[in-house]
Amino acid sequence: MRRSRAVRRRPSAAAIAAACLLALTACADAARPTEEWFPETTGESAAGAGDGKPGAGQGGRTPRALPGGAGGDDGATQGGRAAAPGAYHRWGLDRPLAPPPEPPAARPVRPEPSGLPAVVDRVPTRDKVVFVTIDDGVNKDPALIDMAADLRLPFSMFLADSAVGGGTGEDYGYFAELQRLGNSVHGHTLTHPDLTSLPYAAQRRQICRQQERVADRFGVRPTLFRPPYGEYDAATLRAAASCGVRAVPLWRAEMKAGGLEYREGDRLRPGDIVLAHFRGPGQQGGRTMTDVLAELVREIQRQGYTVARLEDYM
Ligand SMILES: [Zn+2]
Repeated sequence: MRRSRAVRRRPSAAAIAAACLLALTACADAARPTEEWFPETTGESAAGAGDGKPGAGQGGRTPRALPGGAGGDDGATQGGRAAAPGAYHRWGLDRPLAPPPEPPAARPVRPEPSGLPAVVDRVPTRDKVVFVTIDDGVNKDPALIDMAADLRLPFSMFLADSAVGGGTGEDYGYFAELQRLGNSVHGHTLTHPDLTSLPYAAQRRQICRQQERVADRFGVRPTLFRPPYGEYDAATLRAAASCGVRAVPLWRAEMKAGGLEYREGDRLRPGDIVLAHFRGPGQQGGRTMTDVLAELVREIQRQGYTVARLEDYM
């Protein structure tokens, strides 16, 4: 077995460190044959509007002064930005996103009694809500900032340092803009490896350094973490717990070029976590981020759901 071989091979701390470095390099370079990770090479410029200052506290509860859009053509503001009346028309929607129900008094997803983070792909709730998560951080379409403000669409971002900065890790301003609109930011490792190929120490470095980087850049310590490709093992959970991760959200449905794909069944169910990616037109059939998200919102509405804030539930 791959993992037990790795364990037997551990002769010394120095050797482990060397192995980690090699593994990280290999993982960063290896183009894993998955649709989850598409480095952006189309040269789309970042919005660069943000300066990395922290936005509203993402760990807190949803401020109830931030209603959703139903009947919400009232010019109310979110994150200091006015929502223009009827702005949802601009994004091809025939109605605004319905306001989510009041968040539960106690978050239904809690760490395991052992202290390890809970791993969930669907939040236990009867509310007709789903959760939108967007991963990696390669594409930085400025139009998404307008859309997020117009639709008051809450989503959670899981950023990999290598994806955000193309290796420099210094391009977080765009995501700070999205955070100011009330969207939360969490970690997705430094270089997006398959964590199950790494020993504990390397996993901990990948997970915890990125959680720290997010905390530094956004001013709020992330409590959620998503492993690349959804791949994790026992060491992943121990490593994540060691740096404050309370929950590991996976997903039940994924937004792809052809539309929403379900891990089982053919429709959304209450509490489903939906995965999308910061991708450019080159990676999704010529469609922009806002094209894809508008299609996702329309499908969520068509099935009678609205979008709630993941951090209110875990
Ligand atoms: Zn990813």
